[in-house]
Amino acid sequence: MIDICEYSQCTGCMACLNSCSHSAINIEFDDEGFERPHINQDLCVDCGLCVQVCPINHPPKANEAKKAFSGWSQNETVRILSSSGGAFTEISRHVLRDGGVVFGCALNDKLQAQHIYVETLDGLTEKLSGSKYVQSHIGETYKLAKAFLQQGRKVLFSGTPCQIAGLKNVLRKEYDNLLTVDLICHGVPSPKVFEDYKKYIQQRENMELTSVKFRCKKSSWIFFNMTCTGHIEKTASPKLYEGYYYEDPYIRGFLRDYFLRPSCHHCHFTSTKRYSDFTIADWWGYQKSSAIDKDFAYKGVSLLLVNTDKALKLLPHLKMYLRERTMEDAKRTNISLSHPFPFTTKRDSFWKDYKTIPFDKMVEKYMMPEKVTWDVNLRQHHKNTDYLLIIIRFLMLPQRIYNKISKLLARHEK
Ligand SMILES: Cc1cc2nc3c(=O)[nH]c(=O)nc-3n(C[C@H](O)[C@H](O)[C@H](O)COP(=O)(O)OP(=O)(O)OC[C@H]3O[C@@H](n4cnc5c(N)ncnc54)[C@H](O)[C@@H]3O)c2cc1C
Ligand code: SF4
Ligand code: SF4
Ligand code: SF4
Repeated sequence: MIDICEYSQCTGCMACLNSCSHSAINIEFDDEGFERPHINQDLCVDCGLCVQVCPINHPPKANEAKKAFSGWSQNETVRILSSSGGAFTEISRHVLRDGGVVFGCALNDKLQAQHIYVETLDGLTEKLSGSKYVQSHIGETYKLAKAFLQQGRKVLFSGTPCQIAGLKNVLRKEYDNLLTVDLICHGVPSPKVFEDYKKYIQQRENMELTSVKFRCKKSSWIFFNMTCTGHIEKTASPKLYEGYYYEDPYIRGFLRDYFLRPSCHHCHFTSTKRYSDFTIADWWGYQKSSAIDKDFAYKGVSLLLVNTDKALKLLPHLKMYLRERTMEDAKRTNISLSHPFPFTTKRDSFWKDYKTIPFDKMVEKYMMPEKVTWDVNLRQHHKNTDYLLIIIRFLMLPQRIYNKISKLLARHEK
């Protein structure tokens, strides 16, 4: 029996599955709900290709990032729809305009994250825009991308750095018609926890979910705002749930690193050596941008790394306001560009409890709202109503009263 790579290091990139020509690899789920490749011994011919293409064993050729920029899309709608400043859509535009295809992560009908491809800008903004903070099911999309490349179509493939490394190893040669975009990556949360979270919200809020946006910018870019839309069960009345990062249980658990994939805690991809053409992220050094755009705190700012000559050539054609930064500045504002987030002992106890404790009790034990401190939040740039909500949260008023006040404030704002 072959171990394709060390179990704790396996990123779930599925380069192995996409390379096996004997269909001997299928997907199984581990106790934490992450996808794992599993070899069917009856079909395996011991050729060793899966071991060869695994980026953990054999990383593809990397490039040192050449330039760093902060900036945002010149198109206001694109900027608002995107999680950061809209760099992904502005890069993708060029590939779509030339009749190409764009691969990326979307939520499917069951609100599960999976990689798909789109051929139009509408499809892109509807499906691919925005971060989905859960591991994406990559399936056989590398094989599909290879087929498009061999037909001569332009392909943009976006994903986590380990997925881009997986794609590169499956392709095993450079393609002029391929452009790759990866993220600066904090880590991917467990799909199992996301499933349980959705059920929990449905029950708690008495609603059937139809969409989830992990970072809605209605009132802020800095404060992650989880937004679930749907309708009240048994009636068609629309219903909305919103939770800022300091109060939504899922975002709390994600940012406390309780349910990231184990490989993310010793990630091989947290440096300025990149496998992609472009790297996109949030520009958390936004304070320095305030002189240029006073709305940055609501609308978002991208960090863009230009890693290859191909990307450098496309750069002047991007419809973005860009400002060059030093690589040191980029690293200072984004920890995941220097090192992974370490395992915490709380992660161990989280998963020990997860097997026996129902989700609502897990929320009470591990994912309760943070006590908001003046120091952390009043330094942020926010609307007056946000200040008021922070003060209310600081006083830890019961959720019911807090919800009523926020609704009144929202009505007043309109
Ligand atoms: C799991 C995860 C962790 C991240 N960690 C950080 C971080 O530590 N620091 C930081 O600055 N930025 C991080 N980002 C990136 C950030 O959230 C934005 O996605 C990024 O800045 C792009 O923003 P945009 O405005 O250019 O475009 P958007 O339209 O917001 O970006 C969409 C892009 O994200 C990709 N994407 C969305 N969800 C996933 C997913 N689950 N798996 C793979 N690709 C996905 C899409 O394919 C598309 O390419 C992370 C994103 C994800 C999904
Ligand atoms: S050794 Fe070859 S046949 Fe067996 S699983 Fe790996 S790639 Fe497939
Ligand atoms: S190729 Fe990817 S999914 Fe397969 S074993 Fe290696 S890291 Fe895991
Ligand atoms: S943190 Fe590293 S291993 Fe985890 S998903 Fe991101 S790139 Fe892959």
